[in-house]
Amino acid sequence: MLVFLQKAQLYPYLDKFRKEGKKIAFVPTMGALHEGHLSLVELARAKAGISVASIFVNPTQFNDPSDLEKYPRPISKDIEKLEKAGCDILYLPEVEDVYASGVEELEVADLNGLDTVLEGKSRPGHFQGVVQVVSRLLDAVRPDYLVMGQKDFQQVQVVRHFLRASSIPTVLEVAPIIREETGLAMSSRNVRLSTEARKRAGDISVVLKELVSRARNGNTRKRLEDATDRLNQNPSFRVDYLGIYSSTTLEEKTHLEPGEEYVVLTAVYVEGVRLLDNMLIPPVE
Ligand code: AMP
Repeated sequence: MLVFLQKAQLYPYLDKFRKEGKKIAFVPTMGALHEGHLSLVELARAKAGISVASIFVNPTQFNDPSDLEKYPRPISKDIEKLEKAGCDILYLPEVEDVYASGVEELEVADLNGLDTVLEGKSRPGHFQGVVQVVSRLLDAVRPDYLVMGQKDFQQVQVVRHFLRASSIPTVLEVAPIIREETGLAMSSRNVRLSTEARKRAGDISVVLKELVSRARNGNTRKRLEDATDRLNQNPSFRVDYLGIYSSTTLEEKTHLEPGEEYVVLTAVYVEGVRLLDNMLIPPVE
């Protein structure tokens, strides 16, 4: 695997492959890699001849400076994992390479309200930061495919909107959520949980599964309240939101139409660590 620290070197190197007609698939990450990230690399390799990953802890998407500071950065281990996963190229920039004119007064995108609900409510400016970094990384890599995880469901919808609104021809590929044995969605933040809480956090996916299986029968609102109470009964848990939403507009729904797809979305603080999870409710005939 080749490692590039600067886009000035990366771009001409990739251009060589482009001219040979090779496709490029790109996996942006913030590092502290786990099997979830590596499954994205696997999908990138299946989609295109050249796989590129990036590791960049983007300062503009953190509204809590201590979260940015605490973000794990095990870079040599990450490089080893990417190499093992067969990734061709790693782009590993410093902030200055991504934000040449600094991180003050960056552009604000119209994200059609997708950025101010759910995660956007608790983390104002987060999705503007996501779009700021995604647009710059796409500029540096110019991939045919952008591979992202369903784990960050709202992020996928925001980026999908941004690609469409900006007429960027890159195809967005969404990879399924990889989970720990308990069902807990893998996340770089899970290492901050105690062993006990990490085990207990498997309950989040159990609750989501039950909600999905019964979503189209009976009183949805009551079931969501019960599910929230059940999670909150654990003293180290605090549910921020748990609800059913349109999988495209992210509008909250209590009445589900048969032909529509929905998603159960949740954010739960466990020992103060914000954990996200979601499951799709497929349409029925
Ligand atoms: P992050 O490093 O947290 O920004 O994540 C980088 C990419 O990996 C994003 O597209 C995430 O949605 C994806 N990802 C994170 N966790 C998982 C997981 N458990 N399964 C699949 N993809 C994931």
